[in-house]
Amino acid sequence: MEKENEFLIPVSGLALGVHNFKFDIKDDFFADLDYSEVKHAEVMVDLEVVREELMMTLNFHIEGKVEVPCDRCADEFFIPIQSDQVFYIKIGAEEVEESDDVVAVPAEEHAYDIRSLVYEYIILSIPIHRVHPEGECNPKVIAMLSHDEEPFDEEAAATDPRWAALKDVNIEDN
Ligand SMILES: [Zn+2]
Repeated sequence: MEKENEFLIPVSGLALGVHNFKFDIKDDFFADLDYSEVKHAEVMVDLEVVREELMMTLNFHIEGKVEVPCDRCADEFFIPIQSDQVFYIKIGAEEVEESDDVVAVPAEEHAYDIRSLVYEYIILSIPIHRVHPEGECNPKVIAMLSHDEEPFDEEAAATDPRWAALKDVNIEDN
């Protein structure tokens, strides 16, 4: 049996005013989404919904940690995330320019599913640079990397026949 979708926010039946929702996002949230690159996370989503006659404003506060591979050593680690997002639901609007943060729904719509929004916001809040805090990278990988990145040896390059050949080519071309 399918479990109840807790991410359905009531629309038509929601009284005017401010409503608060809380979602405790764990691994099972991502397990339900085949396409998710994230598998492990602990994220709290605080959602404040301001219900007006023809508009609902959804204020998301997202905070927690998500497991990602480190850019430097490739080991998985938990990176802290935090973000605030706003989303608008226009109710019964005939004409609306829908965009990433606005959607229009019929006045009789019972509920709006925010699951994919929550997923998107979590993904967006993962920093672009994902690196372990200093000194916490996998020491084996770091040892290997520093071996590969030995300073460029100018003397060796000067006597390398491949470099010598390149020098001649430049002169010929001009
Ligand atoms: Zn690392």
